[in-house]
Amino acid sequence: MCISPTHFFHNMSVFDTPSPSNSSLESSPFSQDLQQKKCAICFRPAFSNNYGVLTCDACKMFYRRIVILNREYKCKYGGGCAHVAKSTVVKCKGCRYQQCLEAGMTFQPSFAELTNEKDFDAATTVATLRFLDSRRSNAMKTQFTDEDFSLLEVLEKRRMKMKARRSEITNHEWSFFGIYTSIEFLMSLDFMSSLNLNIQDKKILLKHYCVKASLFASAMRAMKEQRNTLMTVDGKEIYPDAILRLKQISPQFLQRIRSLLVMKLIELKITDEEFALVNAIFFCNAALPLSEDGQKTVVTQQKAYSSALLQFCNVESSRNGPTRFTNLLSLLHVINKNFEDVKAMTMLFRIFVKDVSYRKIVTDVI
Ligand SMILES: [Zn+2]
Ligand SMILES: [Zn+2]
Repeated sequence: MCISPTHFFHNMSVFDTPSPSNSSLESSPFSQDLQQKKCAICFRPAFSNNYGVLTCDACKMFYRRIVILNREYKCKYGGGCAHVAKSTVVKCKGCRYQQCLEAGMTFQPSFAELTNEKDFDAATTVATLRFLDSRRSNAMKTQFTDEDFSLLEVLEKRRMKMKARRSEITNHEWSFFGIYTSIEFLMSLDFMSSLNLNIQDKKILLKHYCVKASLFASAMRAMKEQRNTLMTVDGKEIYPDAILRLKQISPQFLQRIRSLLVMKLIELKITDEEFALVNAIFFCNAALPLSEDGQKTVVTQQKAYSSALLQFCNVESSRNGPTRFTNLLSLLHVINKNFEDVKAMTMLFRIFVKDVSYRKIVTDVI
């Protein structure tokens, strides 16, 4: 697979890891002077004034990112954390930020500073992806289409006309619609209208990822609705009865398809922002047989999304940003596994259950 964490790390220029552990410093008799200077926020050794206050680098970056990304954090406990953890860095972002303000840190980024910042790029990338994804998710929840175009027809700019969802949707229709709304979402990503990608490139990219995107989105929806298995949007079993009755497919296998990815997302406690970025990174698969120009475009785009994700992880999990980043990327294996299972199940179903008609786009991609 083209996405290896080490590959990213070597190519990333956006690393600014928090200051290293200071344990050696504390035990050294020669560091008496340095020890006296402590960060006003976390009390670790500090060497310079940042935004008007003596702080360590980690607290400086923490404060800077929150201001630039315009994030807001509320303390779960009404703001008491800072007083409980007097000697170490406060884990709660709300309280840590409050400490920064109370210590007198001030920073008003100029327009140039904002627009030149990688952080700013990360923030706009996340916002755009989330907007596009919420459009997909709304369509999934409220609309439907009776049109039946092939993948190629859709690529030639024939959108299927949506209408308000009617009451009864079959399992097959749900999976079709999940796939179609994912295709529309993926096609709405900026780089997909780049002239460097020819129609064949787009077809390969979509064919390779749209079912995975649809699985990923359903798993995400399950997690947010506090379920640990996949269900249809209207809260029903994802499999048609004919599959459940098939002796050739074990209930354990079906359950694995329902829960493998959801369980992993629950374990990771993935956020909407992380989901949006990870999804976009996985879609940009440069290992596929694309045209030379297409390949370059996809590589560039994947780097941009990855860089945004790393920035984001550094803000959200300050010290553990890089670890978080790697853990999120490891989701790819789970999604691939989930997809392989779905493919196997679909094949068995097509062998053993005849007389089922599929929409064109479904048979094009799975
Ligand atoms: Zn500090
Ligand atoms: Zn707090």
